[in-house]
Amino acid sequence: MVRDQIASRGIGNPRVLAAMRAVPRHRFVPAAVQESAYEDRPLPIGEGQTISQPYIVALMTDLLDPGPGEKVLEIGAGSGYQAAILSRLAAQVVSIERLPDIAEGARRNLAALGISNVEVIVADGTEGYPEKAPYDAIIITAAAPSVPPPLLDQLAEGGRLVAPVGDIMVQTLVVVEKKGGKTTTRSYGGVCFVPLIGAYGWHD
Ligand code: SAH
Repeated sequence: MVRDQIASRGIGNPRVLAAMRAVPRHRFVPAAVQESAYEDRPLPIGEGQTISQPYIVALMTDLLDPGPGEKVLEIGAGSGYQAAILSRLAAQVVSIERLPDIAEGARRNLAALGISNVEVIVADGTEGYPEKAPYDAIIITAAAPSVPPPLLDQLAEGGRLVAPVGDIMVQTLVVVEKKGGKTTTRSYGGVCFVPLIGAYGWHD
């Protein structure tokens, strides 16, 4: 998967590739779709949600570039796959999930692999998690109509935020950097995520 779907498509960051090799994706995929665990596509994880496509996980991790001592906030834990990748690159990961049963599944999947530096919290991630702010890096793994302002407030000076922003069907990956209290935004290619639902997201 890593060689054919990720490295061959231009992700060269050795830390990201090593993390992608180390995390067994099949452990984050339900029994019914196990045979597809290493295919380069999203898969259903229940409640209308998905585990993200491996190439997109690698691309977003590469853009986020979490450093060894850093604290990362993820919005949209799902089954915990992206959080597991981040756990190998950063010191501490806080991952927010709005659906309690999905969050419980993520906790179970992470614990079963002995991953102890990820905390999964049930809440509306569009509000962030001020208790542990500021964050060196923030990743939104659901489609946002715009970047939620509380997340920019909770981003550390020098920090990066990666998110799919756009309409509910297709989005553009954006990277926001905060320097000198100002933010700059760069756009990358088109992506397709499940909706971010919350106070600063889409409404139910
Ligand atoms: N990061 C996951 C992707 C999960 S899909 C992975 O590694 O595969 C996106 C998840 O975001 C879904 O589980 C959905 O329930 C959750 N979500 C949507 N809106 C949210 C919000 N406002 N706060 C927290 N989680 C949210």
